[in-house]
Amino acid sequence: MDFSFSPEHEALRDTVRRFCAEHIAPRARQADDSESFPRELFRAWGELGLIGVRYPEADGGSGFDKVSDCIVREEMSRVSQAFASAWSAHSHLAIWPIWRAGTVAQQQRFFAPALAGERVAAFGLSEPDVGSNIRALQTRATKVEGGYRIRGSKLYITNAPIADFITLAARTKPERDAAAISLFLVELPDPAVQIDKLDKEGIRASETGLIHIDDLFVPDECLLGGREGTYPIILECLSENRVGVAANCLGMARGAMAVALDYARTRVVGDRTIGRYQAIAHKLADMAAEIEAAHWMVYHGAWRVDQGTLDAATAARVKLIASETALRVSEQAIRILGGAGIMRDYPVGRFHRDALVYVIGEGTSEIQRNIIARDLEL
Ligand SMILES: Cc1cc2nc3c(=O)[nH]c(=O)nc-3n(C[C@H](O)[C@H](O)[C@H](O)COP(=O)(O)OP(=O)(O)OC[C@H]3O[C@@H](n4cnc5c(N)ncnc54)[C@H](O)[C@@H]3O)c2cc1C
Repeated sequence: MDFSFSPEHEALRDTVRRFCAEHIAPRARQADDSESFPRELFRAWGELGLIGVRYPEADGGSGFDKVSDCIVREEMSRVSQAFASAWSAHSHLAIWPIWRAGTVAQQQRFFAPALAGERVAAFGLSEPDVGSNIRALQTRATKVEGGYRIRGSKLYITNAPIADFITLAARTKPERDAAAISLFLVELPDPAVQIDKLDKEGIRASETGLIHIDDLFVPDECLLGGREGTYPIILECLSENRVGVAANCLGMARGAMAVALDYARTRVVGDRTIGRYQAIAHKLADMAAEIEAAHWMVYHGAWRVDQGTLDAATAARVKLIASETALRVSEQAIRILGGAGIMRDYPVGRFHRDALVYVIGEGTSEIQRNIIARDLEL
């Protein structure tokens, strides 16, 4: 067994760290306050090859691997989870299905410009009445001459207010089976698609939308892969992305830990720095141990993706532990900072608000436990 990162992985980490220090850190607080995303970042990510990090060179990607994808996520999330969320929804959720199942024409029209950061993408699965139970989705695509007519709503869709296209799930048959749900590539803007930006408490700089679709015509060539019944692709996409967002959670935990550690080493109360009080030192010890555990779960999960052996239960375990770790660690960081932890001058409150999103988004912790329990054959 070899647990070390390769020199290429280390070089990538350095590159992303420098990029984040230069382009993300100076904007993170202002973007959070104004709840707006600097869209031009997509081009900068594209130029550096960061959007395509997980995709093979033969398909236009940068030719790295899932471990590299997790390194990018971890480093970005240490600085701003909102920016990393916009990146994740675009680079994985929205375009992975196109890479995996799109026609050659769809790869050229949607995947390639998204990799370059020229077109921004969103992934529309969740609906007002359908979040955890995705098989029940109600957005309906009816076959007509030359294409489909789509009606329905999508809720909490990351990047929707700034997107050039949406990879959208809709029901093409009334039955509740895998063959009934299909993916469409929907060009934006379109008069039949209304997008309202939502106000949020977490990942505020990432723009999130409520989408109403009223009798939208989508041509046949925008049905993903030219075939109905691509629900299994959605499940595969979600499983891999659970390992990805677990890396985001690891990054948030590390970011919060770094602030707490620095504070514990410098804040003097009474006759000593607060890190010298055992109550604070033990909190930091627990945080360090939990981060270490999450780290190995994330990179083992990424390695499983690269080996082609990731299964849904493994992905759920990784996501459950990493997201709950980020939530606990960021809360402990707030406690360690005392009153300063509540002030916006320090990012620990932001890390905590952002970590809360990830015990919900990409499948709640309860849903991850359901997936894990199903695998136990109780
Ligand atoms: C900031 C943000 C960004 C998002 N971005 C996207 C995006 O880009 N694209 C997209 O498609 N979706 C997105 N989502 C949606 C996200 O995936 C859903 O919020 C999530 O799947 C939960 O669905 P829900 O909010 O409808 O909760 P519900 O399904 O209504 O669940 C409510 C509660 O009931 C519990 N519950 C539900 N069913 C069960 C069960 N069977 N067993 C036990 N407990 C259960 C849940 O765990 C939760 O505690 C985003 C969400 C957020 C908050």
